[in-house]
Amino acid sequence: MDATRSMRSDAVTVRSMAEDMSRAGADAALPAGYPGYLTIDLGALSRNYQAMTRRVAPALAAAVVKADAYGLGADRVAPALYAAGCRHFFVAQFHEALAIRPILGDDAKVFVLNGLQPGNEEPCAEAGIIPVLNGMEQLAAWQALAGSLGRRLSAVLQFDTGMSRLGLAPADLDRVQKAIEKGGLDILFVMSHLACGDEPDNAQNGEQLAEMQRIAARFADLPLCFANSGGSFLGAAYHGALVRPGIAVYGGAPHGNADNPMEPVVRLDVAVVQTRTVAAGAKIGYGGSHVAARQMVLATIAAGYADGLPRTLSDRGAVYFEGVRLPIVGRVSMDSIIIDASALPEGRLTLGARVEVIGPNQSLDALAADAGTISYEILTSLGSRYFRNYR
Ligand SMILES: *Cc1c(COP(=O)(O)O)cnc(C)c1O
Repeated sequence: MDATRSMRSDAVTVRSMAEDMSRAGADAALPAGYPGYLTIDLGALSRNYQAMTRRVAPALAAAVVKADAYGLGADRVAPALYAAGCRHFFVAQFHEALAIRPILGDDAKVFVLNGLQPGNEEPCAEAGIIPVLNGMEQLAAWQALAGSLGRRLSAVLQFDTGMSRLGLAPADLDRVQKAIEKGGLDILFVMSHLACGDEPDNAQNGEQLAEMQRIAARFADLPLCFANSGGSFLGAAYHGALVRPGIAVYGGAPHGNADNPMEPVVRLDVAVVQTRTVAAGAKIGYGGSHVAARQMVLATIAAGYADGLPRTLSDRGAVYFEGVRLPIVGRVSMDSIIIDASALPEGRLTLGARVEVIGPNQSLDALAADAGTISYEILTSLGSRYFRNYR
């Protein structure tokens, strides 16, 4: 955490240098020492958020900024979303809430999805952070604190409607209702989470909605908070009073592989640090797992699995240069990847050139699919070694 923070502040210093060099993110010169250029388009992020609010109106849209805003930097993303009108922010961990609370306006609400952990009650109340209560013991602890402080405390009540991950058990409905009636808590939302919101045809969506409606009937005057990005595209029945999109705001496809209506937010370009021509029969990469079938022009780029490009991309994915697809050959290393640049005119790809890893030719979702994973995992794994250009 501390190491990341200090790298960030270094990056802030270098960032202004690079902005002087060029206004165009991906085309700017790469500051010395940075192997890759991660462009994060805060304008596109804000437009995605606003598109979401239009989609779900009259419901409101929160933004999920857990895991450092899906790896993109909560210190930049959360204030940008606040400026775009967002007033409800969800994080996963209490310390993530502490980090963003001071950089948002007082009218913003910050919620902790993973709930109220023992020992966090007082700091949570003191910082004005709102816990999502996921169990009877959390509810009791928060209510007890409200009693001892002599003031009302806000909370969200989450119910498990069929994911078995987080939330009060519907079997405890009577107990929950009795506890709430004792007073002390302002329940801002009754909440649940969809397990299959990204799969519109999955019958589990309807089952969870029915369960949510059954629970909601017991809390007639309380607003509901149910849908994630995928759920927000399932129709008004899923919207409740507040939706909680994450990935769609960051430009990921809300419904897996279907057409993506969101604007891309992230572009990733990585520097070439070596080129060579090898003869047929040459072994390429760790384990010698790829053997050149012909003479090949290879290039080594300066990012690997430590930079969020998973080993599952070995001999599978590709990068792009001037629109030409350059396949990954051999295994992905920790800090580098070897690509087949044979499709380019000789000498076209030189030391210091940058190839597109995520951009107009290759979406975040396409890269994730090649890696056998999801956009979420790629984004949250990008790490701290790229130069970050916020636009
Ligand atoms: C992560 C998360 C979200 C956001 O999900 P997306 O699919 O990224 O929109 C919403 N609600 C909960 C409870 C989550 O854990």
